[in-house]
Amino acid sequence: MSPKRIAVLPDEVINKIAAGEVIERPASVVKELLENSLDACATDITIEIKNGGKKLISIMDNGGGIPAPEVELAFQRHATSKIKDFDDLNLINTLGFRGEALPSIAAVSKVTMVSRTATDLAATKIQISAGKVLGRQEEGARPGTTVKVENIFFHTPARLKFLKSDSTEFNHILNTVMEQAIAHFRTGFILKNDGKETLKVPAVPTLAERLYDLFGKETQQNLLPLQLEQKFLTISGFVSTPALARNNRNQQYFYVNHRSVKHRLLNHAVSAGYDTLVPNGRYPQVFIFFDLAPEFVDVNVHPAKREVRFANEGAIHELTVKAIRNALADQLNIPKIEHRDTLGLPLGDNSLGAVLRDYRAPSVQTETLFTIKDEAAPVYASRGSQPVNTLIMGEISVLGQADNAYIIAASTTGLFIIDQHAASERVMYEKFKHEFAQNSIQSQKLLIPINLELDPSAKETLLSHLEILEKLGWEVEEFGQSSVLIRALPAVLEKTGDRQFILDIIKELASLRERGAAPAAAELKNDALDNILKLSACHAAIRVGDRLDETAMRQLVRSLTAAQIPYTCPHGRPTIIQMTKTELNKRFGRT
Ligand code: ADP
Ligand code: MG
Repeated sequence: MSPKRIAVLPDEVINKIAAGEVIERPASVVKELLENSLDACATDITIEIKNGGKKLISIMDNGGGIPAPEVELAFQRHATSKIKDFDDLNLINTLGFRGEALPSIAAVSKVTMVSRTATDLAATKIQISAGKVLGRQEEGARPGTTVKVENIFFHTPARLKFLKSDSTEFNHILNTVMEQAIAHFRTGFILKNDGKETLKVPAVPTLAERLYDLFGKETQQNLLPLQLEQKFLTISGFVSTPALARNNRNQQYFYVNHRSVKHRLLNHAVSAGYDTLVPNGRYPQVFIFFDLAPEFVDVNVHPAKREVRFANEGAIHELTVKAIRNALADQLNIPKIEHRDTLGLPLGDNSLGAVLRDYRAPSVQTETLFTIKDEAAPVYASRGSQPVNTLIMGEISVLGQADNAYIIAASTTGLFIIDQHAASERVMYEKFKHEFAQNSIQSQKLLIPINLELDPSAKETLLSHLEILEKLGWEVEEFGQSSVLIRALPAVLEKTGDRQFILDIIKELASLRERGAAPAAAELKNDALDNILKLSACHAAIRVGDRLDETAMRQLVRSLTAAQIPYTCPHGRPTIIQMTKTELNKRFGRT
């Protein structure tokens, strides 16, 4: 074979290759053109879409426009007005900077641009198709820029084939517009789909107003402001109350210096911020803005600039969790029970009938477990590092157990129903977590060790985590070819000879190892560990069906009051339900 000759690729080909990275689908065009309009300081942007953007994408802005002599230049690769040298690359405060969007778009479609600056007398109209300039002329137009992109991918059929249905493509476009509309609330947006107005939001002075216009009243009322300021970083925006959690992450918006970004680390930080407040698989709505000095973030790591790299991921993660926790504690009625240690007299009959009878009889002697706090000012208890609001409960009396599942209690402010399993799970979880951190989980030697047969990989997993297992209160040793001996378990789990439980723990241990290599390794590792603590808590907890005597009930309610987050179990389910006196009065017709 004769050697192949090396040659520099023609611009046309280079642009097509670049387009492959930057322009994936019509929504990518919308993203790039919106960025250009926003960089040009437009205060009004109108987007028109036909056939999911396959036929037409038109974006009209009232921004600064392009000076007549530079209009062609804008379509040249690496032509940009936004950076001039390498140093600028570290100080980017515009959305675009690579000078790639327009040539890439023009390489794969037919583009018509009409642009006029405020000082030019007429607009310049330029037409480019498949990278070739077809014509240029002057035209009357208002200052600003309109870019029409027609027949995207018309001469790259392979790409065209990968596009989805019009409605799917439009959906991507809508998401793109939403992302920008959230961050750029001082700009008005109109989005038309096949002639129909799908979105119209006026320019407003605050993010809160923009969110109201985009998502409506219910969402806006359930949003809590986020604010955390450090020397080089500000975190702001809104996060939803746990009640607004969705079953996917589509409503989690992150911005770094006003650029919409995706980052696993940030999704993870949100989950950690809401840990135990929303059930697994539910995702709160968040709109989080990170403003940091440009030198602490690299925005040039992804062709479409969708991803960023932080100089200090650990700090970003930690501060995000903290900002969320503070927002939730400050604003949300995650109640905190204030405990007063005055135990009272024995309880009577445990039946629900007796509970209600007793509740109505004011002379009944009950115990006082909680004290009332000043109603006007929620008090932040300072147990642990995360302050949580105080619930206004008054003096509460434990009255009895219903259905071997619920503890019924009452106070001058109303009735309380406590889920004994959920409450106990919460107590156990926090206990384990604390003890694990202190290296003080109590271990209990088993009289008869458990002999567990395991497949080779499970066995290997277990044996390669002996150290962590020991810290968790386990004593495990190899026992022959295909089994292990469990000699000791955490003291509270002593009775659990439950094979399935042990297998569940092994599964988590395995993921602890698998995920070890992932980017945000430290956090993910903790996830698996946390899951083990949750699993252990679930197993150690009082079950539904367990009959509790007075001491046990008092003990549980007391421990719950001492918990950092008493109101949900580690999986996010409630531990306690309150029926206020007002509500009771209303339902009994005593107004
Ligand atoms: P970049 O945005 O990375 O600079 P683009 O290819 O997107 O690269 O745009 C090239 C240049 O064209 C921009 O730097 C800007 O000067 C100019 N430009 C593009 N779109 C607009 C617009 N809507 N209004 C004003 N100027 C624009
Ligand atoms: Mg651009």
